[in-house]
Amino acid sequence: MASTLQKPPAERLLEILGPVEEFHNHERLGDFGMPTGQYMEHMLEPVAYGHKQSRIGPLEKVHAFWFAGMSCDGCSVSVTGAQAPSVESLLLGAHPGIPRVILHHPVINVESGPHYLYAHELAVKGELNAPYVIILEGSISDEIAAHGQGGYWSGQGEEPWGEGGAERTVSTDEWIARLAPGAAAAIAIGTCATWGGVPAARGNPTGSMSLMDFLGKDYRSAFGLPVVNIPGCAPIGDNFTETVAALLYFLQGYGPLPEFDELGRPAWLFGETVHRHCVRGAYYEEGEFAEEFGDPECLVEVGCWGPVVNCNITSRGAINHVGGCMNSGGACIGCTMPGFPDKFTPFYSPPPGSKVSTTASRILGGVIRPLRRYTNSHLNREVRWDVQNGVPSGWARERTEPGAVSDFGHRFYDSLRRRNDTGKSTAVEWGKGDKVAKE
Ligand code: SF4
Repeated sequence: MASTLQKPPAERLLEILGPVEEFHNHERLGDFGMPTGQYMEHMLEPVAYGHKQSRIGPLEKVHAFWFAGMSCDGCSVSVTGAQAPSVESLLLGAHPGIPRVILHHPVINVESGPHYLYAHELAVKGELNAPYVIILEGSISDEIAAHGQGGYWSGQGEEPWGEGGAERTVSTDEWIARLAPGAAAAIAIGTCATWGGVPAARGNPTGSMSLMDFLGKDYRSAFGLPVVNIPGCAPIGDNFTETVAALLYFLQGYGPLPEFDELGRPAWLFGETVHRHCVRGAYYEEGEFAEEFGDPECLVEVGCWGPVVNCNITSRGAINHVGGCMNSGGACIGCTMPGFPDKFTPFYSPPPGSKVSTTASRILGGVIRPLRRYTNSHLNREVRWDVQNGVPSGWARERTEPGAVSDFGHRFYDSLRRRNDTGKSTAVEWGKGDKVAKE
């Protein structure tokens, strides 16, 4: 038997709070908090793409409960900007084979108050009309400590779960702890939820932790999945919606379980470092480094950690393939990493280990860069211009024709290149001053 302290915090919290039995009487509540007179689930049903039978597969819909812990709501903002797929298309069941997503989001939903919590209550009771997933943005704070003081750190709504059926605020932790065992999947979005993030930085007065830390190593969803982690501060919205779509295909039985790494990150999204797809990578390779922000070169010497950070921001951009840190001039400060922020401070100072690689790049780049420029100037000429010994462009700044040494170099380079080019053996070879093609 695990001792109390060895149990995950979620289990310990539920031991303290005990089971719940009383819920709101929704028939007696009337239309308070229901501006459209309907739950969002029912409101969207008639306008969802196709009829429910056309959304092929055993699951017609899946509920998604979104919770915010110690959060800035940046994850919500990112996800609402996602394009591939968009939240709207998921809510409307627009993707064949993917069940319609019934989102319960405290900011987006039209219903509020106890009516907003209706589906949550059904899920706690095990009476919901479809499977559900839980999503957490923001870190989990230590509500065990807060309860001891008679308060809470972050909560969502009230339920009659107090003494004698009194209404009391339900903390985010409590919702997660009650709903996680029955969830088809538990998804942490953003660095606070995946690893603890800024609220869990050194000092950590709220005892903040990640969803994984809260649910424990042995946690498995009702469909057998450990916690899925999509980090970033803020995360790329498409990383989230794409992973949700992949999971829904899996839950529907139409796709394999997507590949996750040993920390529960989608492996196809976080398998590479920022550096490997960075638009400034060639500057690094050629040993050219920015001295201040606004310079176009590699940002490592003004504090970029990209070479050792797992993230796809450079290839995917922030929204719809636009923006993203290095693409728009910002150095990587490691916001997707479990060690963020403590292991990356002070921000905007060169990582100590970068001295070795930047020195090596400078030495190698000092040789490679002039050679590339030399070849580049040769490739910026038509063969005809070489033959005619001049560039007929009114746009061209006055530039000298290649001298004897350059000319010899280009001829040598071209003969190397053409050595194995059998298809072009009868074509005109490069050569300044050549008047007639050699047969
Ligand atoms: Fe790598 Fe950062 Fe330089 Fe880009 S800016 S090449 S990620 S070190």
